[in-house]
Amino acid sequence: MTTRAVYPGSFDPVTNGHLDMIERGLNVFDHLIVAVAVNADKRCLFTVEERLDLIRRSLGDRPNVAVDTFSGLLIEYMRKRQVRVVLRGLRAISDFEYELQMALMNRRLAPEVETFFMMAGESYSYLSARIVKEIASMGGEVQGLVPPAALEALRRKFGGTR
Ligand code: ADP
Repeated sequence: MTTRAVYPGSFDPVTNGHLDMIERGLNVFDHLIVAVAVNADKRCLFTVEERLDLIRRSLGDRPNVAVDTFSGLLIEYMRKRQVRVVLRGLRAISDFEYELQMALMNRRLAPEVETFFMMAGESYSYLSARIVKEIASMGGEVQGLVPPAALEALRRKFGGTR
């Protein structure tokens, strides 16, 4: 039996923290689906196509990782793909409240779906796509926080980033 999990998120853009989660997730699951949320009311810097492209380019060729998009309820997507595990990362305590709420709500909506949490790697526990965008937008250095493809894309968006 192969174990599969869906790793959902905005990935706006993909960071080294996300890549670490994927890498470590593959120590637990045979196959991962990285699912980029198409969320109409969440303003993203990158389009869905750009976000998918950055993830694909950063992951390289990996037969055990698929990259996909979803819109609407995550649990509907889980049912459609017939996957029962959601993979999520926990950074600082501030992630906990939101993640608990989401996990319990998803369980209420779909009791067959389990949320699996992994602690952020210690080098990435302070890293979020939001803070990367904030720093890059003000010309700060984000090298080492995001993969090269995302670094290049941020430089193109903000020009001033060194
Ligand atoms: P962000 O919070 O960086 O904008 P997403 O909304 O794309 O990222 O998050 C997708 C998932 O990845 C969430 O479960 C989030 O907790 C997790 N995640 C994001 N950044 C990290 C990180 N640096 N380390 C571990 N998990 C992370």
